[in-house]
Amino acid sequence: MADPLYLPDREYRKKFESSVVKVESDGSYIVLQETLFYKEGGGQPSDKGKIYWKNKESEVVDVQREDGEVRHYIKGQLPKPGEKVKGEIEWDRRYKHMRMHTAQHLISWIVLNMYGASTAGNQIHEDYSRIDFKPVEFSERDVEKIEKAANSLIKKELGVQKKMMDREQLEQQVKDGRTKLDIIPDHIDPLRIVVIGGEDICPCGGTHVDNLEEIGEIEITDRKSKGSDTERIKFELA
Ligand SMILES: [Zn+2]
Repeated sequence: MADPLYLPDREYRKKFESSVVKVESDGSYIVLQETLFYKEGGGQPSDKGKIYWKNKESEVVDVQREDGEVRHYIKGQLPKPGEKVKGEIEWDRRYKHMRMHTAQHLISWIVLNMYGASTAGNQIHEDYSRIDFKPVEFSERDVEKIEKAANSLIKKELGVQKKMMDREQLEQQVKDGRTKLDIIPDHIDPLRIVVIGGEDICPCGGTHVDNLEEIGEIEITDRKSKGSDTERIKFELA
């Protein structure tokens, strides 16, 4: 299967052309030769958008990787197998996810540096996101410190690099506790990495902004203990 068209660093593309390789018989989804649509994964929801062909258009309401294929779930009419189609992603949603996902990496980096805690899970949405950290116990004062550190790095307008890196090189460069490389299947090599400010290296297939300034301002809106040394924070972007 071809790599998604937004990789390694083309997240700002909005349109693409492709052709239909499969139409599910129940009419629920299609599979394209190649796609710019992000499929749900890694705590990031899928893109939405539209596909166009001839003088017709339909909505792409969800994108999932299932049984080794990327399924574009469609509301409306369906193109035929072999049909040339144009696709356009819903940019507002894509860009919110880009800003949120880069903000999540930034906070995860800061918490690892300040408290030695790893990111145990995360879920991004358009309007808020959450991250679980372990092992750690935060006080209210800690939450203020994390928010302040994140916003001061945003003000420095650090660049965000997205590129491919050989697994062996990545294993040497990635900081202990930043990611669980061993849960990524061995055959995935090279890996796509996201680097903030030349320092925070993390393998990730998500969509990200090019510069921290695009995040705006991070506000941590909630913190709670999830037990067993796990803390959950929620944040929004202003
Ligand atoms: Zn990520």
